[in-house]
Amino acid sequence: MTIALFADRAENWARYETPLRNAFAEKGVEVDLIRETDTPEMVDYVIYAPSGPVSNFSPFTNLKAVLSLWAGVEKIEGNASIKVPLCRMVEDGLSEGMVEWVTGHILRHHLGMDAHIQNQNGVWRNDVVPPLARDRRVGFLGLGELGLACAKAASGFGFDVSGWSRSLKSIEGMRTYAGANGLTEMLQRCQILVLLLPDTAETRDLLNAKTLNLLPDGAFIINPGRGSLIDDDALLAALDSGKIAHATLDVFRVEPLPSDHAFWAHPNVTVTPHIASETRPESASRTIAENIRRGEAREPYIYTVDRSAGY
Ligand code: NAP
Repeated sequence: MTIALFADRAENWARYETPLRNAFAEKGVEVDLIRETDTPEMVDYVIYAPSGPVSNFSPFTNLKAVLSLWAGVEKIEGNASIKVPLCRMVEDGLSEGMVEWVTGHILRHHLGMDAHIQNQNGVWRNDVVPPLARDRRVGFLGLGELGLACAKAASGFGFDVSGWSRSLKSIEGMRTYAGANGLTEMLQRCQILVLLLPDTAETRDLLNAKTLNLLPDGAFIINPGRGSLIDDDALLAALDSGKIAHATLDVFRVEPLPSDHAFWAHPNVTVTPHIASETRPESASRTIAENIRRGEAREPYIYTVDRSAGY
């Protein structure tokens, strides 16, 4: 019998136990799903979150794979005791949630909704009519599972969409870029910039004083990726100067964002508490079950992390 250890916080066991058992049944895999073990050498798979009880994988001497419940793996991929394939979480619920959150915030800035939501003062201000999406240039840093889904949704609305990734992509109806020159070229055209990159050695501080300055004056930034992608001080300076009109930030270098951080008080920053999207147990369990099915059938895993690239 295949043994899978659920290694996340106790409260998540209640959310995941039934969906995981249902997903194993749907996939036709016989799995003994356990929460703790005295015989780690018997465990085939660890269903994993860094907030759970496991940090040293060395006792799991016969492990086949580590299956992350989290999409971002920056707190996992450097764990030297993981010697087996590490798979990150990709699942429909997470992607759908991200598409909805990102699209909502793009539309907020595109339509200038704040002007009327925040300033109802009896004055009939009909001098500014929102432009059409086709006249708004929206760029995505990161065209992976989430970035591409969001970019396609924006494209569906008619926005003029561009995207940047590590390897150059060819996507119908989208301008695509890669590399340092590609980044420079793309930033110059992005009136709304969405960050959906992972936190790696290469992406840290990608948006800094120099790169922020490439954006058109009055650009909007939406960051549901990782806080480390942006140099906070450079962003605050760009907001103060008006170079950046508004930043909607869901992720931060320190979470929860300390209550005295300047982002909370800045009039042109919207702080959301890392809620852009989250893993949904039903759909996430299907991803876990599919990878266990693959492992048992000796088929390649899906969504494996490239540990040399860090994501
Ligand atoms: P993914 O599928 O791994 O995609 C990552 C994208 O970033 C890929 O397009 C990749 O390029 C690109 N990239 C990586 N390093 C790069 C570099 N040095 N230069 C240029 N492009 C680079 O990841 P995902 O599933 O879309 O998730 C993206 C991030 O979203 C996660 O890492 C996590 O940090 C964040 N997230 C946030 C929330 C939230 O609630 N706020 C929820 C889930 C995830 P290639 O395509 O060439 O590989």
